[in-house]
Amino acid sequence: MEIKITHTTTPKAKPTDEDNLSFGKYYTDHMFLMNYDEGQGWHDPRIVPYGPIPLDPAAMCLHYGQEVFEGLKAYRRADGKIQLFRPDKNMARLNVSNDRLCIPKIDEAFAVEAVKKLVEVDKDWVPHKDGTSLYIRPFIFAVDAHVGVHPAHHLIFCIILSPVGAYYPEGLAPVKIYVEQNYVRAVRGGMGFTKTAGNYAASLKAQDEAEKQGYTQVLWLDGVERKYIEEVGTMNVFFAFENEIVTPALQGSILSGITRMSSIEMLRDMGYTVNERKLGIEEVFEAAAKGTLKEVFGTGTAAVISPVGQLKWGDKVIEINNGEIGEISQKLYDNLTGIQWGKIPDKFNWTVAID
Ligand SMILES: *Cc1c(COP(=O)(O)O)cnc(C)c1O
Repeated sequence: MEIKITHTTTPKAKPTDEDNLSFGKYYTDHMFLMNYDEGQGWHDPRIVPYGPIPLDPAAMCLHYGQEVFEGLKAYRRADGKIQLFRPDKNMARLNVSNDRLCIPKIDEAFAVEAVKKLVEVDKDWVPHKDGTSLYIRPFIFAVDAHVGVHPAHHLIFCIILSPVGAYYPEGLAPVKIYVEQNYVRAVRGGMGFTKTAGNYAASLKAQDEAEKQGYTQVLWLDGVERKYIEEVGTMNVFFAFENEIVTPALQGSILSGITRMSSIEMLRDMGYTVNERKLGIEEVFEAAAKGTLKEVFGTGTAAVISPVGQLKWGDKVIEINNGEIGEISQKLYDNLTGIQWGKIPDKFNWTVAID
């Protein structure tokens, strides 16, 4: 399929202050669109000026949340070239989400090409400053004008781009997290392993309460026994004990993060033992009491690595690594971001050049 390109005739002014881009505030001049109609399949891939998408008020996505999305970034290297980080993994995951939500599969290689084309068209929007990047948001939503619960026959695949600021302009800063005891995010058999709107709607209340109490995010426990660690808001989570680094195994209720996957590979390459297994919250607090819990950190595309400095569970509070960034978190962050921004050789072959 050929991607038809229509350039904007009214380009927007780009944000000039790259220190204050923040996250998700600005959008570029173009977007990618493609339609699915039953009988025709996915068709009419096109890049058009960024703008509103007309929707019938009965559009199914607005009522039943048949929507999936992805999140990845384009990075400007020191030599000026632009690159993506493992975009094939995002598109493979998008199809995993599609399958769970009865959304017709996309051609993964074609979707990566669409991302590359769109970023190329808006390449001047990729910011230059250290730590900045262009956030890429592919998403698919159901547009049938039909208020009835069944899988859609008409959908739109859209990709938008947003220049985003450095997550840690002053270096890695540890965050405070509490263990959520009232709400659950997902259960096995549900949609926890997919990136779909409903999972985030389900998490807003807990997130809001956590922020009001001065915490950055919540740590979710399993929805059945409320004992085992799952993940953090939009991040997977790792615990570095004396002799092993543990991240919860993927059992259907947590997202298979690409940063998680890359961190496991990278940490093993760095010589650490990494185990994907069930991990009880009690085990973590016992290890902290014994002094064998060394570091805790979240992993996700937005922040890459987010060290946790304090963890609260009921009335128990533990301070991790004296509230400071640990050596493992820092080294992992340096290695991953080094590859993403093209500062160190990519021996894993994870990056994909745009031009
Ligand atoms: C996106 C996301 C992650 C992190 O995935 P990455 O591919 O590493 O960005 C983890 N958990 C949830 C719930 C997410 O939405």
